[in-house]
Amino acid sequence: MYLCAKINLPIPSIMSQKMRTLTEPFKIKMVEPLRITSEAYRQAALEKAGYNPFLLRSNDVFIDLLTDSGTGAMSDRQWAGIMMGDESYAGARSWEHLEAVVQNLTGMQYVLPTHQGRAAERILYSILGGKGKVFISNTHFDTTRANIEYVGSEAIDIVCKEACDVESYADFKGNIDLEKLESLVTQYGKDSIAAVIMTVTNNSSGGQPVSMQNMKAVRKICDQHGLLMVIDGCRIAENSYFVNQREEGFAHKSYQEIAREMLNLGDAFIMSAKKDGMVNIGGLLTLKDESLSVKCKNLLIISEGFTTYGGLSGRDMEALAIGLDEVFDKDYLHYRIRSTAYLGEKLKEKGIPVVWPIGGHAVYIDAKKLYANVPVDEYPGQALVIDLYLKGGIRCVEVGSVMFGKYNDQGKLVPAVNELVRMAIPRRVYTQSHIDYVLDIFDDILELKNRKKGFKITYEPPFLRHFTAHFQPVN
Ligand SMILES: *Cc1c(COP(=O)(O)O)cnc(C)c1O
Repeated sequence: MYLCAKINLPIPSIMSQKMRTLTEPFKIKMVEPLRITSEAYRQAALEKAGYNPFLLRSNDVFIDLLTDSGTGAMSDRQWAGIMMGDESYAGARSWEHLEAVVQNLTGMQYVLPTHQGRAAERILYSILGGKGKVFISNTHFDTTRANIEYVGSEAIDIVCKEACDVESYADFKGNIDLEKLESLVTQYGKDSIAAVIMTVTNNSSGGQPVSMQNMKAVRKICDQHGLLMVIDGCRIAENSYFVNQREEGFAHKSYQEIAREMLNLGDAFIMSAKKDGMVNIGGLLTLKDESLSVKCKNLLIISEGFTTYGGLSGRDMEALAIGLDEVFDKDYLHYRIRSTAYLGEKLKEKGIPVVWPIGGHAVYIDAKKLYANVPVDEYPGQALVIDLYLKGGIRCVEVGSVMFGKYNDQGKLVPAVNELVRMAIPRRVYTQSHIDYVLDIFDDILELKNRKKGFKITYEPPFLRHFTAHFQPVN
């Protein structure tokens, strides 16, 4: 336990810290060197990678904001835990440690370890789903949707209305639309609905939080109709910070208390430990119902591993048990959420259009607005991603028509709703000066904002094209 956790002081509000420089609540005792390259070098690297940042070597990247998944830094306590990991096949100490931490956090008795979040999804949704079944969510994450559709079920997203306007402020843009939920329950009927899945924070809608009130209302609807409620909660600690700061009645509660209260509302909890688990690999499936847990455990043993390690080594489980404690540290969470907001708020001050308010794990830029002269079929988001790498060695990802675009019968692009660029922030990896450097690079980007040409695709695979497509600048 950190010393500060023993002193019972209220959590400082954002306002009381507003005027101070946001500092990292850790110091560095091991370093991983970064290579500074020239613009000419990066131009050559881009050509070699077909202008697709997924095909760049990480050695050629200076600031890597591609994802916050599994890219965080572990603490000295976690590394010490790695050394203490118990690698016994069955009933390992590290498993007992992890199980106790997760039971305490979720209030759920049955805990299944998996190698990633999507393995937990595959196990649960292949048991609950099947042809004719429907899953309803605030927003299904990509792997969630893929696992549901793979077993022949349908995944329906019903995020709240406030989320549709990317630039207007609302406290809880991750919420589910309760009216639509009620009407879908009436439309499909209890027997067709496999589960209601609450994604917390709502990753695909920009890392926006879900309120306790919304979660309680979903619980009530599920109780009324006998429906199963799953919490896809890999960013539950980040969500708890927002509830503490923004929702009435939670200012005096600790982040862990808020998380416990929210998770207790669910029947099942799925977690990619690569996010708020603060580890580089791992996942969890946690359940209240014994008979469902038996079915899941059978599938776990066939496909992941024995019930006391899933797909993980003992040291992985030890580091995860420690990470799930550290992530609720009040200084860490304040720094985490405020440092992401710092990047977004400063970008907005510079005149860069960002999705508002800033979510927990990433900043999203509206590339269609920033590069207003680049036609949508020349992918303004891709142009911005490329410019950020070329000017600053910064890697991020297009979330627009490269990722979600489709073609109509005439082979013409049917664009995505938005042309965004996501800058995801790895946990405890970059310092304030790295982020200030990113902000400086946007001065160069602003000079390019009248750019008229974008990119064309020269190669694309039939599925998930953004990972491996090749591009060429339009000239
Ligand atoms: C990352 C993520 C997953 C999938 O987890 P993996 O560990 O990448 O398999 C599922 N749901 C959400 C909300 C996620 O962010």
